[in-house]
Amino acid sequence: LQKFFPVTGQLGRIGGVKGQVKAVNDVSFQLFEGETYGLVGESGCGKSTTGRTLLRLTEPTGGKTIYKNQDIFQASKKELRSLRKDLQMVFQDPYSSLNPRKRIGQTLEEPLVIHSLGSKEERRERVFDILNKVGLGVEHYYRYPHEFSGGQRQRLGLARALVMNPKVVIYDEPVSALDVSIQSQVINLLKKLQDDLKLTYLFITHDISVVRHISDRIGVMYLGKIVEEAPTDSLFASPLHPYTKALFSAVPGANREHKKERIVLKGEIPSPLNPPSGCMFHTRCPFAMDICKKEVPVKKEMESKHFVACHLY
Ligand code: SF4
Ligand code: MG
Repeated sequence: LQKFFPVTGQLGRIGGVKGQVKAVNDVSFQLFEGETYGLVGESGCGKSTTGRTLLRLTEPTGGKTIYKNQDIFQASKKELRSLRKDLQMVFQDPYSSLNPRKRIGQTLEEPLVIHSLGSKEERRERVFDILNKVGLGVEHYYRYPHEFSGGQRQRLGLARALVMNPKVVIYDEPVSALDVSIQSQVINLLKKLQDDLKLTYLFITHDISVVRHISDRIGVMYLGKIVEEAPTDSLFASPLHPYTKALFSAVPGANREHKKERIVLKGEIPSPLNPPSGCMFHTRCPFAMDICKKEVPVKKEMESKHFVACHLY
């Protein structure tokens, strides 16, 4: 397993804005085998586009994603099909991707049929096994999507991704639609599955508490760029970027540790159609200086593996 995924400049769609917009601009990060990398930021910052582009669910216009020495962006259709066995994505609302007229068992078997994996019996066994792994039972095999609760549907979404025995799973807001009590159940299940099945996760969310709970490392995104990246403990012990500090200020739990540095963000996230010059955060940053409007800050390593892109440092 080649262990990194740099992604750079691509055109696409961001936060509901259609048209030729630079949704993700010079995003670069590595995903190491067995880890969970959390990508966090406000809605519309390009997180989902990054996740989708990695798997070419959104076609990139530039850059590269290296997996097992292969550039996914250059892969042929056939190569891509085989790559997608290893790389799966789970979305916020799995219900929309479940056919309401098909029994769950049939839906879960579909990818195995498409890739002609196993006999009919073996496929059924595989689906039974996966249903058990995600905390559902054999009895659910014959049910229809509408018979499941929200939490159970997210387990089905998970089952659908895992049935192919992937190596990497990309989650886009997988628990954001769930009640808080159900959220922690699902997060704990994700952690257990990661250990049992030796999975690597990219976890995309706007939720600071959730990302903190699950991630080994975190990248903070603002307007299509990663502005700070650090191991989870280091990020919460000493957030450096004013945007990260502001995000943490808004969370009761995280806030307690950073009372002195409470920052409340003014205004809305700027339109990606017309992004600010220099540091893209300067229109909302309480520490903005003259240089911030003119020069794009370069990423610097402040502590071991703790990177920030800000002129204050
Ligand atoms: Fe604020 Fe300037 Fe740092 Fe950007 S570079 S976050 S505007 S201080
Ligand atoms: Mg999103």
